[in-house]
Amino acid sequence: MIDLKSMTQEEITRFLRDLGEPAFRGEQVFTWLHKGVRSFDEMSNLSKALREKLKAQCTITVPTAARKQISRLDGTIKYLWRLSDGNCIETVLMQYRHGNTVCISSQVGCRMGCAFCASTVAGKVRDLTAGEMLDQVLFTQLDAGREISNIVLMGIGEPLDNRENVLRFLELVNHPDGLHIGMRHISLSTCGVVPGIDWLADLGLQITLSVSLHAPDSETRSKIMPVNRAYDVEELFAACHRYFKKTGRRISFEYAMIDGVNDHDWQADLIAKKLKGMPGHVNMIPLNDVVESPFKPSRRIGAFQKRLESHGITATVRRSLGGDIDASCGQLRRKAMEEKGGCAPT
Ligand code: SAH
Repeated sequence: MIDLKSMTQEEITRFLRDLGEPAFRGEQVFTWLHKGVRSFDEMSNLSKALREKLKAQCTITVPTAARKQISRLDGTIKYLWRLSDGNCIETVLMQYRHGNTVCISSQVGCRMGCAFCASTVAGKVRDLTAGEMLDQVLFTQLDAGREISNIVLMGIGEPLDNRENVLRFLELVNHPDGLHIGMRHISLSTCGVVPGIDWLADLGLQITLSVSLHAPDSETRSKIMPVNRAYDVEELFAACHRYFKKTGRRISFEYAMIDGVNDHDWQADLIAKKLKGMPGHVNMIPLNDVVESPFKPSRRIGAFQKRLESHGITATVRRSLGGDIDASCGQLRRKAMEEKGGCAPT
């Protein structure tokens, strides 16, 4: 069956043309799909004959909400979506003053193995299609009844380990006949896949790149992030400098504060040294306790922030949302996997 939602408007138009349809049909079908219709019968401006033809050859993916949790603290909503093959992924909707941000997953599971992260505990199952990434935005918006203005690719998975589908998703979500979310309203977070960062720099998109740094020295970083053994932090900083030179866009560095591991003053000093010549922004994240991990939240967040600022680095502490609903990605899926009828593919 053909997955129309993962196709660009041009591809849909070409496909329909081969079925003998005029060019404007492509735009019509694309528009319907991006409204989140659940069946071809909802495409009311198509002839019955065409709808039947499409039904015979194509599918419309529709995830179902296996769980939905609403934070009583701040209105954050977390969805556990069940995909058509039974796998589950998480999506989080957060309300900020400047609008609604949705945090989406890019893979089912993750193979990057970060020691503090719940998403990677059971490894990677598969990549998400572009349509499945789009569905997270579409169906979250429809279900919550809130218009989404910003997207962050910071859920389960490593987006630069699923590049082609991620790029396709960016094109889809940016399209004027679809959700039309501007590239400047989209962030992509990577654990530091260096060739992926160079690939992104060459594309010259206006998205914001976030790099999960978590340690500026190789010894510490290799202990908590296996990706550092493939792409050492020195190479990572070099790639970030190249990225900034090419795109002129400021990179945001994520830094989960772990007690006694990466929260020493000398590490703040080293970050400042490595970012020289580039306007970096460090986003400090209070570590979320993950049951499987031995790490504890740092008690030096304020001191570390001051130390960074003393070097002229902008450092912010991420406001924690959804603390009462397992809102950090990977946690809800983990829980559901352990329970009966959980998240295994059918
Ligand atoms: N694979 C991508 C995107 C997904 S993770 C990446 O690594 O950037 C989104 C962010 O949450 C990353 O910065 C990740 O390191 C961080 N994170 C994972 N587990 C965490 C935890 N227990 N506490 C705080 N941040 C965590």
